Amino acid sequence: MDHRAFTRTMRILESRYPVEDWARGMTPFEILISTILSQSTTVANERRGLNDLRLRVGAITPKRLAETPQEEIAKAIWHAGLAKQKAPRIRGVAKALLDGHGDRLERILGLPTERAREELMALRGVGPKTADVVLAMAGGHPTFAVDTHIARIARRWNLVRQSDYESIRAALERWTPPAKRKPWHLAIIAHGRTLCKARNPRCAECPVRRDCDWYQRKRPREQRTRRVPRRSDKGLRAP
Ligand code: SF4
Repeated sequence: MDHRAFTRTMRILESRYPVEDWARGMTPFEILISTILSQSTTVANERRGLNDLRLRVGAITPKRLAETPQEEIAKAIWHAGLAKQKAPRIRGVAKALLDGHGDRLERILGLPTERAREELMALRGVGPKTADVVLAMAGGHPTFAVDTHIARIARRWNLVRQSDYESIRAALERWTPPAKRKPWHLAIIAHGRTLCKARNPRCAECPVRRDCDWYQRKRPREQRTRRVPRRSDKGLRAP
């Protein structure tokens, strides 16, 4: 898929999937905790873990979580999975952010994007994906966070040869205007959940299959879309 096809594809997906901003109404710290909880689980289970954690500690703030024993956090987030790994990360990040008046995260988000990204990734337990999600969803920064849906679809669209996080992010950011990074990030995730699933993607119903490299490669030869003749092809055909 080239740049033009990518832009055409994203316009189609953007109109098909209205923006569902899951972070609306959440504090930046809640968005960070929600992103940590979301690793390797479903949206429903992440939300359940977040709600149970809120019930357990009263309010999801750095202070409350830093004061809560790790075992209690692990019990509260059980539904989100990997509780034994996520609980120390959540407590560790809460403690790290608990300096001064407890507003360190807001101050980080007020920095220029690259600086803010570095500071977030310097927190133990915060990797590039978590940092990019928080930057985009909590700070309005023009980062293109890459989750499993986006990584899979970028490969299917042949956007990048490499499969590492930074290469996929760089490719998407290169072709996406800054103001579109958040809505297009959300649109690709919605597409990955709805049609372009990991197993058995529903290509027959897909509105962007015309430009999809994976579809053009995998579907039977006789069903492939006939290439629309270019202007330069005119006159080359036999009468
Ligand atoms: S055609 Fe199939 S593989 Fe390509 S984007 Fe659509 S659902 Fe995904």
